[in-house]
Amino acid sequence: MRVSINKDLCIGCGACEATCPEVFKMVGEISTVLMDSIPDNLKDSVLDAEAGCPVEAIKVEE
Ligand code: SF4
Repeated sequence: MRVSINKDLCIGCGACEATCPEVFKMVGEISTVLMDSIPDNLKDSVLDAEAGCPVEAIKVEE
């Protein structure tokens, strides 16, 4: 699983970091992804973060 953030869409709400701080980190007003490949134990948390993003800025690819 790979995750990316559309930085043009991200409004910096911090919800993804709150849901899955192992993967998402706020840098200034924009969320960034901390790892290239998501380990199995974090996949559910990443999907929760994706679902919780209010502007659908999180893109998840298998
Ligand atoms: S939940 Fe979405 S809008 Fe909010 S910081 Fe994360 S990527 Fe940006």
